Amino acid sequence: MKRNPWRIFVDAVMRMSATRANYWSELGVDGVLCVLLLVLGWQRHAGGPLTALLAIGLGLFAFSFIEYFFHRWMFHTRVPLFAQGHDQHHARPLGYDSLPFFLPPAVLLALAGVFVLLMPTGFALLLAGAITFGYIVYGLSHFIIHHVRFRQPLLRRWAAAHHVHHYHPESNFGVTTPLWDVLLGTRYVRQPRSR
Ligand SMILES: [Zn+2]
Ligand SMILES: [Zn+2]
Repeated sequence: MKRNPWRIFVDAVMRMSATRANYWSELGVDGVLCVLLLVLGWQRHAGGPLTALLAIGLGLFAFSFIEYFFHRWMFHTRVPLFAQGHDQHHARPLGYDSLPFFLPPAVLLALAGVFVLLMPTGFALLLAGAITFGYIVYGLSHFIIHHVRFRQPLLRRWAAAHHVHHYHPESNFGVTTPLWDVLLGTRYVRQPRSR
């Protein structure tokens, strides 16, 4: 039977998305994009430092929700490109399964474009830069949570929350912060043992 070209393409992208090269390329491209957005945003920004800080704070806050939203409603449902890679991550937490390297930067760039249409350019670029920064922090956090054993008690608790998600995939969707799990009632609560 002849396979359709789209299927062949998707399979190839899926295979590539599981490689270490894809993982670190994505981080590299995101890093370049983040610096570009922040530098350009800073140059174009017409307001004072306070509004610049507001844009960055807003971007980080927005990212914390984007992280939760995607993990809960995209990765843990049946959205093709998202769910497959995430299922792989749950099956092999130490692997490199992630999104294809070009997808997140393309989406972030498009987001920056939409912001530029809606608000002053400098503010828009700083906002998009901060969201990109949040995404990088999320990626690195997730990587070290699985690859580093922390000794410091607070860091241990922080990492443990995500390890719990691997056992209880219906809870603890936030990786960098528990904020949205607490607000939306998905923070894992240990059940009292029944006898
Ligand atoms: Zn994980
Ligand atoms: Zn998950």
